[in-house]
Amino acid sequence: MEALMRVRLQKDHCQGHGLCVAVSPDVFKLDSDDTVPSVAIEDVGPDREAEVLLARDSCPVGAIHTA
Ligand code: SF4
Repeated sequence: MEALMRVRLQKDHCQGHGLCVAVSPDVFKLDSDDTVPSVAIEDVGPDREAEVLLARDSCPVGAIHTA
């Protein structure tokens, strides 16, 4: 079985820059009336791992955590 990476977004730290949504649009979703994205896929497979790590490292306030 493939290992999954758990993704968490600390909504109280997020400032709504939307970079994560731009980098990994399947995993981070912004509804039209939201300013803070939600995590649409919490357990990410190897196919999306690189983009989620890039989104995490791109977040200006360090609100994205992976384990
Ligand atoms: S990149 Fe960081 S601050 Fe910007 S929307 Fe995503 S979690 Fe929030």
